[in-house]
Amino acid sequence: MASMHDLNPVVVYSASLVLPVTAPALPHGAVAVYLNRVVHVGTREWVLKALSEGPLRSKRVVERHWDGILLPGLVNAHTHLQYTGMASVGQQEYGSFQEWSDAFDVIYDDDALDKPWKDWAYDGARQLVEYGTTAAADITTDLEAAGALFSQRMHGITYLEVMGWENDNWNASGPEWLRDLVEQASQEGEAADIGISPHAPYSLESAPFLDLPDIARSMGMRLHIHLGETPSESGDAEDLYSPVSRSWRSHHWDSYPQLKSSGVHVSAIQFVDQLGSLGPDIHIAHGVYADAEDRRILRQRGVGVALCPRSNRITCTQKDAPVADYLREGNLVSVGTDSLSSSPSLDVLDDVSMLYDLAREQGYEGADLSHRLIRMMTLGGAEVMGLNIGPKRIGQINAGALADFAFLDIPVDLSSDEAYEDTLERLVREGSGTNRATVISGRVAHNNDAF
Ligand SMILES: [Zn+2]
Repeated sequence: MASMHDLNPVVVYSASLVLPVTAPALPHGAVAVYLNRVVHVGTREWVLKALSEGPLRSKRVVERHWDGILLPGLVNAHTHLQYTGMASVGQQEYGSFQEWSDAFDVIYDDDALDKPWKDWAYDGARQLVEYGTTAAADITTDLEAAGALFSQRMHGITYLEVMGWENDNWNASGPEWLRDLVEQASQEGEAADIGISPHAPYSLESAPFLDLPDIARSMGMRLHIHLGETPSESGDAEDLYSPVSRSWRSHHWDSYPQLKSSGVHVSAIQFVDQLGSLGPDIHIAHGVYADAEDRRILRQRGVGVALCPRSNRITCTQKDAPVADYLREGNLVSVGTDSLSSSPSLDVLDDVSMLYDLAREQGYEGADLSHRLIRMMTLGGAEVMGLNIGPKRIGQINAGALADFAFLDIPVDLSSDEAYEDTLERLVREGSGTNRATVISGRVAHNNDAF
């Protein structure tokens, strides 16, 4: 008869190369997992020794070896899983952001079309897991899709989208509507955390943009906004250190478009900042139209950015995000795929590959580029959702962290420092489609013959 301690063995995942992200890389490394958490991380030899001497020494040990790279589960910092069934929109070519948006609305607004948001969202979550993603910032527009992350027992935040409100109707019924929505979503999502996503400063007037952060913060929820995505959100590059130097700041504007049409060329980032909406509990998607002053504001407020370079090309944002500047200046950055309605896949490694090329094209010469991209797609994604510290921390492999891992099929060459750097460069440039197994909270959620 099996004794009780056999029921939950310690699982040791060993690999040719372990990248803990919060510690130096480990050739011939291993991670010991008990229940849903990391117990030890180090060289395989050290981990086995520590287990045999520590408080878990009476437990049975099961080893799973991976001949490749083991790293923290990937974090997709911006997606809309419910649009997984709208890939036809993402596969066409457009002449402007408006054209893309119109093509999206043709399907979204057509009540005669069958749009199984829940099935599409759950399918998207399953795809994320296959790509090695264990957490996401998922925006839900239709409540039935709100359980997507939870359906795969993933981590991250389900952000309820709020869009299309004008000041008068918002003031009349908006806050009550939102409180009802949050209550219903909490039942749908269960373990998945709920956040609020005020869509964008061109789809919401000032009253909801003032209220939404207050409501979210009072309820302990985080926020996520599309910001600086479209050409209409660009501004001048003047600095705003002084609160009295720019007269537009002392007026009340009904909306961002009203401010722009009055002739004041201020960026959407600066407008939203003036409303008091920014802070370390919010991260923005895209940040394409972010000049030096905008990037300074984001750093000063502690706001992270989810870069979605492939989506920007499909929706015709007309330029790429300033990737090299973000890296040089030290902004908090992460990576998102956006949805299949504006992206060819939900594999965050496809966007990482494009970010590598963009950073080099834009003049980023640092030898640390591969290292920084690996950080962006793991710890950076955790950080922009506030999931980088505390008992629910992810995006890193260290004792006590949740056991979320990806196992990439990348040839590991440790014969020299140069060969090691080439291995990392290969991971970030050619890592797309190489995930072979995914572990979420210590459970094997996907295994394509990895072990
Ligand atoms: Zn989006």
